[in-house]
Amino acid sequence: MKKPGTIFIKGGKVVSGQTAAQLDVLIQGERISAVGSLPDFKADVEIDAGGLLVLPGAVDTHVHFNDVFMNTISVHDYYTGTLAAAYGGVTSIIDFSNQTPGEPLINTIRTKKDEAEGNAIIDWGVHPVITQPTPETLDEIPHIVERGAPTIKCYMTYRDEGLMIEDEDLKRILKKLRDAGGMLMVHAEDNDMLEENVHRMIASGLTQPVYHARSRPPEVEDKAIRRCIQIMRETGGRLFIVHLASADGAELVGAARAEGLDVIAETCTHYLVFTDKMLERDDGVKWICSPPLRSKSIQDRLWTALQDGRISMVTSDDAAYSWEAKLMGSGRFDKCPNGIAGIEPRFTILYSEGVAKKRISLPRFVELVSTTPANLFGLAPQKGSLIPGADADILLFDPHARWIMNQKTLHMAADYAAYDNIDVTGKIVKVFSRGELIIDGDRCLAEKGRGRYLHRKLDFSLRAGI
Ligand SMILES: [Zn+2]
Repeated sequence: MKKPGTIFIKGGKVVSGQTAAQLDVLIQGERISAVGSLPDFKADVEIDAGGLLVLPGAVDTHVHFNDVFMNTISVHDYYTGTLAAAYGGVTSIIDFSNQTPGEPLINTIRTKKDEAEGNAIIDWGVHPVITQPTPETLDEIPHIVERGAPTIKCYMTYRDEGLMIEDEDLKRILKKLRDAGGMLMVHAEDNDMLEENVHRMIASGLTQPVYHARSRPPEVEDKAIRRCIQIMRETGGRLFIVHLASADGAELVGAARAEGLDVIAETCTHYLVFTDKMLERDDGVKWICSPPLRSKSIQDRLWTALQDGRISMVTSDDAAYSWEAKLMGSGRFDKCPNGIAGIEPRFTILYSEGVAKKRISLPRFVELVSTTPANLFGLAPQKGSLIPGADADILLFDPHARWIMNQKTLHMAADYAAYDNIDVTGKIVKVFSRGELIIDGDRCLAEKGRGRYLHRKLDFSLRAGI
């Protein structure tokens, strides 16, 4: 669609900071130029948003596109992944670029640029993943931060996949990031503990999907989180725990913050909507992810941690594998590529399960999916808030629409849906990215390749919402 000069979004319920009020939004070119009770304005396009919510585009800082992992590759590339994202109200994503042996981190970013250019339909950024903590890689960290990728991830597990980083190296990486103005992201699961469990279960013939969860109980996360917190006591800096699924782990994070340590955690949509019961089904491999799905009581406590701020945000951890790839794990849970396709459901599911079911407020929801991810990952003030001067990444959302989420109503590239036959309240009506209408109801109007690289810089004065 051709970009109009000015767009006037009238009379929707606009969520900004802690308030939600009926306001107008004016877009000029790619930016928001005014938000408020605006007098009648002669715009090129006028949109009546009466009865709708007007929200900042969602920011998903945890997705895996073209990810080579466990003898397969994720099926979301920069076109199919960002297309599904856009249908799900996401206007910015940050993907992971894994370092291969001997590879400079800067090359991993270049690889992602090659994958994204000509394909991405929304804006995108990269978190390099260190797998080879050599002196050369450590020396590269300040340069990478300057190149707009100030958030680097390390795994404390997946030793067999060549991804695991030892604690002494985590400490070195964290110090480098601290000094360069960056943030370390960690996948916190204790490898020794889970590896021993996996070997014992496989040897005893306990190979069904449910044993994936039993081999990685919450204590596996808690032990790794304690190790991270101990490292933080020695180094300072900022640490971000990805995909927290342990309620006791959330308490550890809360206690570390009370101690004055800069530790932040996210959880992911699937931990808030599915429990480990899904793994007992015949098609249980669909829900194999790490950390695994937990019990109902842990899930309830994760919701509480989202309400009280011990967990700061929610991402999708989109890792979409084909059904054929998932079936590699049907007789051996440890052979199943870990991950769930979730980039599209995240926003609407969190609204439906959170706001519509009165577990979280509407402003808290916006913080969890848009504002806090933008603030913590160096995208504010351009992304994450509806304020004058920000990019016009805007969603119009019908809070009352009821529909069934399943493989037919979703647009993701996997050939099955873990989010299958879920009753949902709330529907995305329109999505604007930098002032351009890219999703209009069921139609995508975006041109392939219009997405831009997000050059990020962390602002440590912006904290998590609570
Ligand atoms: Zn992940």
